[in-house]
Amino acid sequence: MRPLKAQEQEEIMEKEIAAREEAAKEEKEVVSKNFIERIIEEDLATGRFDHVMTRFPPEPNGYLHIGHAKSILLNYGLAQKYGGKFNLRFDDTNPTKEKIEFVESIKEDVAWLGADWEDRLFFASDYFEQMYECAVKLIKKGKAYVCDLTAEEIREYRGTLEEPGKESPYRNRSVEENLRLFTEMREGKYADGEKVLRAKIDMASPNINMRDPVIYRVAHMSHHNTGDKWCIYPMYDFAHPIEDAIEGISHSICTLEFEDHRPLYDWVVRECEFPMPPKQIEFAKLYLRNVVTGKRYIKKLVEEGIVDGWDDPRLVSISGLRRRGYTPESIKMFVELAGVSKSQSACDMPMLEYCIREDLKLKRSRLMAVLRPLRLIIDNYPEGQTEYLEIPNNPENPELGSRQVPFSRELYIEQEDFMEVPVKKYFRLFPGNEVRLMGAYFVTCTGVDKDENGEITAVHCTYDPETRGGNCTTRKVKGTIHWVAAETALKATCRLYENIVDEEKGVYNEEDGSLNLNPHSMEVLEDCLLEPAFAGAKAFDSFQFVRNGFFCVDYKDSAPEHLVFNRIVSLKSSFKLPAQNG
Ligand code: ATP
Ligand code: MG
Repeated sequence: MRPLKAQEQEEIMEKEIAAREEAAKEEKEVVSKNFIERIIEEDLATGRFDHVMTRFPPEPNGYLHIGHAKSILLNYGLAQKYGGKFNLRFDDTNPTKEKIEFVESIKEDVAWLGADWEDRLFFASDYFEQMYECAVKLIKKGKAYVCDLTAEEIREYRGTLEEPGKESPYRNRSVEENLRLFTEMREGKYADGEKVLRAKIDMASPNINMRDPVIYRVAHMSHHNTGDKWCIYPMYDFAHPIEDAIEGISHSICTLEFEDHRPLYDWVVRECEFPMPPKQIEFAKLYLRNVVTGKRYIKKLVEEGIVDGWDDPRLVSISGLRRRGYTPESIKMFVELAGVSKSQSACDMPMLEYCIREDLKLKRSRLMAVLRPLRLIIDNYPEGQTEYLEIPNNPENPELGSRQVPFSRELYIEQEDFMEVPVKKYFRLFPGNEVRLMGAYFVTCTGVDKDENGEITAVHCTYDPETRGGNCTTRKVKGTIHWVAAETALKATCRLYENIVDEEKGVYNEEDGSLNLNPHSMEVLEDCLLEPAFAGAKAFDSFQFVRNGFFCVDYKDSAPEHLVFNRIVSLKSSFKLPAQNG
């Protein structure tokens, strides 16, 4: 049942992709711009900005994922398109969850995606002094005050969507008192939570974010960059606009959940009197159906040891995708197909798979590898003889050249390419049937060897010497199967993956919010056999394994004497064995 469903899904996906490509083409021809590009062009035309400067502002509290790739490529792409600049800035204002490990991994991932920040690598924590001065400025302008309410009380006073908030009893402290208290906060006189600094805006604002938001809190914590220099830390909504303004960011692009924070963003840059206030623009997050994306959930899988670290090939973390064998080009293509919009929409994993197939199909060699070997003996082929057959590396791309593939009396084929009792429409090997050994000869099955348990240990056949190269003008065969010569085969391990999530149940368990995991998300095949052309394959090298998909050498577990591959993606298959055989 399942294979059919997958195939149906694939057809639906293909149609969707074709439609999107068509729409993308039309969009290019007619409007040719996404809504952010239109805003930027208008800003340049009206003189609101005379340059374009964007940034990617990750919080170093985890590894990046495919959603972040969208933000990175969007920001970098806009800077490039308008002759501007792109900054990488770590938004490291929250010392609790941040780690150097994450900083390093993020740099690696952004660089790998091709987004070049040149010499503009920044840390928000480098601006702590300036942020402090901004806060002092607000106090002096009567636009900020120190508040002694507890976090709980602040929440209560804030009101609801229906009801206005209530003013804090500390709201009308004098400028002098506020300055003294804020200085004391910095000096470490108060415990965590004892006092906060709040912007003085409007407790009756219909936008809750504007009801005197907290902009500084006391936190006696070491910071990965500033150490113990600070015991007060700015809140995100206050820090972020200042970071953008300091760097001269023109367009501060973020995701939709910040839309309601924009008035506060604008308030901060205005009241802090930055000469060229940046403009915040929101777009919809990239969401992948049935895939674990959020940092929080990926972290959970890592911490519970369900996956092999942040770069487990089953994850859509950038490092996981890289380890799996995805290329920056394929991710870029995916992000472009997904488009930029204001409304939340989801993409499907098969679309990402489509992109990597498209990217690799002409670039990579197509070599023969047998995943589940079955011995094939050609009884009429001379014992001890080896001949070399020239086979093109990629029949669709002659530039990749060709190779000499050894052929001899004993070979290995896939177990699924033989059936003692064939099912209907089975065109591969079965007793009495003739097939083509890819690039070699036609062979006809003559029988099998079995062990005492009745298990097939080898298949016998005869070959027709007139069909060398797999060509024959006098008769046709319906099946072509791949093979590997036994004597020269290299042993390898191949890992096949499925979604880490049980797609029938959905990503999250409705009752307790846990993840619905697929127990078969990884299958490890230890006895795979490869043709000798694979010798010397290095970490991250990828290939098409004829008929079996695209595979990439695992950088962690592979060794020159025993290669380990991750399947990136399968090829489309026109026929699937019924479940009991597969
Ligand atoms: P997560 O959604 O996994 O919790 P985050 O938003 O907390 O991630 P940040 O480090 O704060 O991660 O994000 C850095 C930038 O990446 C932000 O500008 C954020 O809006 C953007 N971003 C995060 N997730 C996505 C997504 N799914 N699609 C597009 N952009 C995203
Ligand atoms: Mg975040």
